[in-house]
Amino acid sequence: MTTISLEQEINPWEAQEARFDFAARKLNLEEGLWKLLRMPAREIIVHFPVAMDDGRIEIFTGFRVQHSIARGPGKGGVRYSPEVTLDEVRALASWMTWKCAVVNIPFGGAKGGVICDPKKMSQSELERVTRRYTSEIIDFIGPEKDVLAPDMNTNDQTMAWIMDTYSMHMGHTVTSVVTGKPLNIGGSRGRMEATGRGVQVICDESMRYLEMPIDGCRVIIQGFGNVGSNAALLLMERGYKIIGIAEKDGGLLNPNGIEIHQLLEYKRRNNTILGFRNAEAVPSDELLVSECEILIPAATENVITSRNADQIKARIIVEGANGPTTAVADDILAEKRIFIMPDILANAGGVTASYFEWVQDRQGYFWKEAVVNEQMETILRDSFEDVIRYAEAHNVNNRIAAYMLAIDRVAITIRQRGIYA
Ligand code: NAD
Repeated sequence: MTTISLEQEINPWEAQEARFDFAARKLNLEEGLWKLLRMPAREIIVHFPVAMDDGRIEIFTGFRVQHSIARGPGKGGVRYSPEVTLDEVRALASWMTWKCAVVNIPFGGAKGGVICDPKKMSQSELERVTRRYTSEIIDFIGPEKDVLAPDMNTNDQTMAWIMDTYSMHMGHTVTSVVTGKPLNIGGSRGRMEATGRGVQVICDESMRYLEMPIDGCRVIIQGFGNVGSNAALLLMERGYKIIGIAEKDGGLLNPNGIEIHQLLEYKRRNNTILGFRNAEAVPSDELLVSECEILIPAATENVITSRNADQIKARIIVEGANGPTTAVADDILAEKRIFIMPDILANAGGVTASYFEWVQDRQGYFWKEAVVNEQMETILRDSFEDVIRYAEAHNVNNRIAAYMLAIDRVAITIRQRGIYA
């Protein structure tokens, strides 16, 4: 493991495979199931034309990967980025399978992406890319097949366009083909904050398990977007002290705690956290390795690697982002006895609320926000207990325990259904 290159270390598909193989070996998974679950079931690559605002025709490449539909329809976001690769989408799709199984909701795992740079595109170009991408994969998606959601650089507006395109082709409105929609076209109350709320619940459970006091507990968060900012706000309101926020363009540190309402307002007005007066400016890399009780990477993949893992001083890491820690870094953190709450559990509040959105769309009956929050919190607390018990029973770390629990649940389903081979 330790002899691999940094390029291999940060390949998300290899990171996923390393954890999967380790957990499957521990579970004594039979060879046929091992081979079946190691690979995605379906990988769709589409190259499609879009008319740009200046009249040019541009060709875009999009992916949709369905890793497993054994436990229910595929479920997973769509990301727009110049850096999207098939390997990344594959890894994210399989993480969705494991995530849905860890929290025991009836979905499989999928993910999509389009190689494009949304910062350089107009709204109407983004709309045309979204609609044409949707039409290219339309035979493979749907409420019973594969349910899409927002991810990096896509949002509720993107979901509205996908829902509308799908509905136009079907000839009637089908809200449950996507989650993360605007409220008035079938979105769920509480979905926007759900991932951050789930991170807060997992922080609370970790503190309880480790018998540490919440009051004054120092937290550093990387990423002040949807997940990071909602987690920061909810944690501050619970009595945690948010001493550091690391963003792409720089970080902030205040040992007495950063007032998150003020910072949110500052970011809303200035579109950056830099220049906020009630904290000191500190490089983001430095914040990741600063003294704190809880570190929450909530920005992007591969931020804790063999390069910085040995310098991390946090007692607990709660992974708000998908894939923030490489497999090599995991080994280093394990030696330092850092308590890690892995992504497939820590950020599962979002997909759990998405499940509720899909249920509400199909019921045609919409729940109060308190009901969404309460049901999501119960599922996350129960899942935390399941993972901790698995880790204790099998003498493995929390990440491997979460993978084992998830693989076991998917394997049980497949054994019951039988393999159509
Ligand atoms: P977002 O785009 O709203 O926010 C991400 C933030 O991180 C941005 O403010 C960006 O500037 C910052 N950032 C990006 N790269 C950075 C870097 N290298 N260092 C510091 N800051 C950086 O995205 P989000 O929805 O909050 O998602 C964040 C992570 O959480 C992603 O890994 C995503 O896949 C994962 N996730 C999101 C959800 C959800 O419901 N939004 C659910 C599960 C997992």
